[in-house]
Order: sequence, then C-alpha cells, then structure tokens
Amino acid sequence: MRIAIYPGSFDPVTEGHLDIVRRALEIFDRVIVAVARPHQKSTLFSVEERIRMIQKAVSGRKGVRVESFSGLLVDYARSKKAAAIIRGLRAVSDFEYEFQMALMNRHLSRKSRGHLETVYLMPDEKYTYLSSTMVKEVARLGGDVGNFVPSFIAAELKKKFGR
Ligand code: ADP
Repeated sequence: MRIAIYPGSFDPVTEGHLDIVRRALEIFDRVIVAVARPHQKSTLFSVEERIRMIQKAVSGRKGVRVESFSGLLVDYARSKKAAAIIRGLRAVSDFEYEFQMALMNRHLSRKSRGHLETVYLMPDEKYTYLSSTMVKEVARLGGDVGNFVPSFIAAELKKKFGR
C-alpha cells in the first residue's frame, strides 16, 4: 500500500487542488488530504469547515481520506507510514518556496526513517493561475468563481461574504 500525504491550507479547496488529488491517485493507492491546523495563518474557513468541504468534493472517490494535522509534517507523515508528500506546482513563483520546504522536510526526516521525498504534480494548465487566495478575493468582491471551485463551495463563499 503506497500512501501519500497532500498537505495544505485548502482555504477553500479549489479545482486546482482536486486536479492534483486525481493525479496523485494514479500513482498512489491512498492519498490523505491533510488540512493544516492554523499556526500563524488566519483562515476564512475553520479547519472543520475545510475538512467537510474537501470530503464533499471528493465524495465517492476511492482511496482518498481527509484529516487535519498540526506540528511537523514529517512527524505526521511518519505516523501515517506515508511514502511521499504531494505538492502542486503551478508556476515558477511556487518553485523557490517549495524547493526550500522539500529539502527541509527531507533533512528533518533523514535521522529517523530515511528520506521523505516530495512529489510535485502539475495541474491542468487552466488551473495554473488559480489559488485559494484569488478565489476568496474574487468572491469577496462579488465575482463569479463557479469555474474554479465546486458549486457548493461557491455558494458557501457567497454566504461568508454576506452576498
Ligand atoms: P499552503 O498554505 O500549504 O500553500 P494551499 O492550500 O495554498 O496550502 O496549497 C496546497 C498545495 O496545493 C500547494 O502545494 C500548492 O502549490 C498546491 N496548489 C494550490 N493551488 C493549486 C492549483 N491551482 N493547482 C495546482 N496546485 C495547487
């Protein structure tokens, strides 16, 4: 059983995230979508809301689980016996931060259990410029985000922003 962890904020989950989950399932037997419990980042949706939205968005898809985690990602990944971490790579702008994080996680995992590798997947090009931040900004200003998130999430965003 090859398990991968797909960690992130998912505030809220977008079609770009879901595209990455689908691609990861082609490679791994199980993908655990791991919602980070907030440390410094303030989020629009609570962890519970984010988990519920992801669960609904992936419902019926075999091999996906949704959980929350806090603390070091490498410790969490080890506790789940994960073979790899999944991250999405959209543009060059993602690269520097992701590269730092992947090497740090590899370093941190080295001592106890061998290397924990990070696998980067590229979404369909139509999601290259999509981020949760952009979706929230457009929704806040009353724009249509229907192409970028499942319709029930577009409705939840409207509700959050009192529209
Ligand atoms: P984080 O705060 O950890 O960056 P995000 O929810 O913003 O959390 O992103 C989680 C992961 O999903 C990151 O690897 C990010 O690059 C990736 N991701 C975000 N949006 C997209 C998208 N539109 N297409 C592909 N990957 C994405």
